[in-house]
Amino acid sequence: MSYLEELKEFYPLDLYTFSRRLTEGEFTVLKNLRKVLEEKVKPVINEHWEKAEFPFEAFGEIAKVGVMNSSLLFEGREGKRKPSELYNAFLYLELAKLDASIATFYTVHGGLCYNTILIGGSEEQIDHYAPKVASFEWQGCFGLTEPDHGSDIAGGLATTAEKKGDKWVINGEKRWIGGANTADILPIFARDKTDNKIKCFIVPGGSKGLRVDVIQNKVALREVQNGHIYLDNVEVDDSTRLANVNGFKDVARILRATRADIAHLAMGMTYGSLEAALKYVKERDQFGKKVSSFQLVQEKLARMEANVVATLAYSVQLANLQEKGEFLEENSALAKMHNALRMRETVALGREVCGGNGITLETDVARFFADGEAIYSYEGTHEINALIVGRYLTGQGAFV
Ligand SMILES: Cc1cc2nc3c(=O)[nH]c(=O)nc-3n(C[C@H](O)[C@H](O)[C@H](O)COP(=O)(O)OP(=O)(O)OC[C@H]3O[C@@H](n4cnc5c(N)ncnc54)[C@H](O)[C@@H]3O)c2cc1C
Repeated sequence: MSYLEELKEFYPLDLYTFSRRLTEGEFTVLKNLRKVLEEKVKPVINEHWEKAEFPFEAFGEIAKVGVMNSSLLFEGREGKRKPSELYNAFLYLELAKLDASIATFYTVHGGLCYNTILIGGSEEQIDHYAPKVASFEWQGCFGLTEPDHGSDIAGGLATTAEKKGDKWVINGEKRWIGGANTADILPIFARDKTDNKIKCFIVPGGSKGLRVDVIQNKVALREVQNGHIYLDNVEVDDSTRLANVNGFKDVARILRATRADIAHLAMGMTYGSLEAALKYVKERDQFGKKVSSFQLVQEKLARMEANVVATLAYSVQLANLQEKGEFLEENSALAKMHNALRMRETVALGREVCGGNGITLETDVARFFADGEAIYSYEGTHEINALIVGRYLTGQGAFV
């Protein structure tokens, strides 16, 4: 089978052939990843979702594939810290088409934490932290949101940091922080009491004065443990303060990169719900025929496929721009807004065509349907991303 034929068979829903731009090395890693996801992760997903526990053992198998640091991803891009942005989009497709919790756990580690270090750290700090995050030796998270400040975090961030000698003392609370309870390193954004600017500190897990309570009773992303963090006079060395985070403008630089990841994640869920729905309707008989043979069902499947292609198009073009170093806030916001909207429509259609069984974990679409709500709201709600695009279009900021 030729390379192009193999790609077509691997991504049958990629009708506009965006995957053709992957290198053979990148495709090899993605194939290895899918094997691990199918064989090791898929069999344990539903039980973990129901028990609201993260499948750490299975996730460890993903890390072994080298999804962040395999040499196959760096052919022709030696010396770079990250694989290509196109590969990144397809990595999210693979993870999220299986399960949004797995993809979300990955994004707080490999997206938010890793980009915070790469964008915010000095060369020395990057050398210290980045390889251990890329190899998954240290698990990371991203501590920005607070109990009283979500959408208005830029102006409202209330956690404080005060310099005392060569130490910093941090006080405050963070909420919703994915993976915080098990993280080895916790990037925490805090306001410097002296100059009022936002800074970032890599707080080691288990630090004195650090407490993480896991948020209970979620109906979305049940596997992911979201932490409510309490920082009570947590003392860290000056060396943990990321040198290049000196105001919210630097946090915005990080978010410009990571918001693209969530657009990709929504694209992967769109792909996954169509795949799961197709499997069901091709097997289910009603009126003596396969449900997939009914015209009204096929119209819904066609709309879902249109959303797969549209979300892929947004993701791939955004990846192309970011690969060239073009990180515009309105571009990331537009892609996150669009892909999350289309994903939300697709997971609902997927649930619909599976009928009653579509609300059980057996058909996979139910998980996508429930998880979609979290992705729709995190990393900038629909409204906030729309307002970023609106500000670009009109020149008028309508946030406040
Ligand atoms: C599952 C999950 C995981 C998360 N993981 C992390 C994480 O790892 N790290 C992290 O730092 N954060 C994380 N978050 C936080 C997430 O980014 C915030 O939930 C999000 O930014 C929205 O903030 P909020 O929930 O406080 O909603 P609010 O800001 O209270 O908004 C409530 C509603 O009001 C709307 N609204 C607010 N302001 C305006 C306005 N000016 N105009 C119009 N509408 C407006 C919003 O769009 C929303 O619909 C996570 C959240 C969830 C749910």
